Amino acid sequence: MPRAKKSFGQHFLQSPSVIRAIIEAADLNPGDTVVEVGPGTGVLTRALVETGAKVVAIEADRDLIPVLSAEFGDQIELILGDALDVARDPVPLVPGPWFLCSNLPYNVGTEILERFLASSHPPVRAVVMVQKEVGDRMMARPGDMSLLSVAVQVYAQVSRVVRVPPGAFVPPPKVDSVVIQLDVTPKVQDPERLIALAKIGFRSRRKQLRKNLEEGGVGTRETVGAFLAQMGLPETARPQELSVENWIDLMGYFAF
Ligand code: SAH
Repeated sequence: MPRAKKSFGQHFLQSPSVIRAIIEAADLNPGDTVVEVGPGTGVLTRALVETGAKVVAIEADRDLIPVLSAEFGDQIELILGDALDVARDPVPLVPGPWFLCSNLPYNVGTEILERFLASSHPPVRAVVMVQKEVGDRMMARPGDMSLLSVAVQVYAQVSRVVRVPPGAFVPPPKVDSVVIQLDVTPKVQDPERLIALAKIGFRSRRKQLRKNLEEGGVGTRETVGAFLAQMGLPETARPQELSVENWIDLMGYFAF
């Protein structure tokens, strides 16, 4: 087996129970198409192939390509490339409905996921391994929200599949991990607009939302405060207290 490379964020999953949990959550059927980002040495890939789904694997490390080709031959469609590029426009690769299943490279995982979600052809469902801290932010509830929580939850219903300790990987990463499931159903017509508004709202987490929005040129302290009160929130609410539904209402109110 090739040595794991730090530069590619390589931590190969070894735990059969975690792999089973990922496969169960993905709920693939024969004939489905699943994209795997970073197949590595192919442990998860093997389990994906066994579901009978068509597997499209994107691997950036050219040294792994011969290993994967030898293992899978034409059982999978193997692409040497950067998933960050594919994520901008997945249509040429997967023209029909598709699923994403991946033990993401942590250094670029959030970016890859956000790009796939924001693309014109997002996956129907994604089951991905991320750093626990990142997964917690993606699943956060009002009170603990961040720009990442809003940016993900506006696109998808997010839930936890399983927590994964460092010992499930070789070599073990320094952080805990979590497998999360994203069922993609955008909550608004134009999620990127809502994310742009939230970006202004989250200019400073320590400041009140009405201050951030005023400073960002969206409404005045008074109008924002009044609208927050109408939504049943304190006028002094900070951005992390709002749900995605609150942001949607706010967007409508300010015709942002
Ligand atoms: N899925 C494997 C490996 C996970 S480690 C397993 O569970 O065992 C992350 C994998 O993503 C590595 O194979 C790494 O080479 C690959 N990778 C890193 N950056 C990438 C990128 N930008 N695009 C595609 N693959 C990438």
